[in-house]
Amino acid sequence: MTFKNKAIFLDRDGVLNREMGDYVCHFKDFHLLDNFNALKTLQDRGYLLIVATNQGGLAKGWYTEDELAKMHRHLKEVYLKHGVTFTDIFYCPHHPDFTGDCDCRKPKPGLLLRGIEKYDIDPAKSYFIGDRERDIEAATAAGVKGILVDSNQPIAEVLGLID
Ligand SMILES: [Zn+2]
Repeated sequence: MTFKNKAIFLDRDGVLNREMGDYVCHFKDFHLLDNFNALKTLQDRGYLLIVATNQGGLAKGWYTEDELAKMHRHLKEVYLKHGVTFTDIFYCPHHPDFTGDCDCRKPKPGLLLRGIEKYDIDPAKSYFIGDRERDIEAATAAGVKGILVDSNQPIAEVLGLID
């Protein structure tokens, strides 16, 4: 008998790096938050760690895929130094005003559903930690438990809510 994986999905801005009030357009504004120990703890509990982030600034032309990739490389590298591995980073490059509707911009669940499919994840055993109501809506729509946290605050305090 095989078991499906379980995952912690994570919003990016305000959870992994400092929320700057709008899209983070430049690498110099990409400041990581110290959630290293908290994510290591969750990883040690057997969860895959997967990022799900709206990047509508791409559709607006405010930054490029290259600039975004630079941020995500840095994110992975620094967390890896603390023993934390992100399984994947899913982002929505769309914005309704520029590219029309899509199925992945949160509160739509598309990013989560993609992760669930790709990594054979059991949504009922998984969580989405986010700092906005739209994260929780996306979680619920994907069958994942949503956990709302305060923006730019340590997420260690919610570890008790996770099995
Ligand atoms: Zn999208």
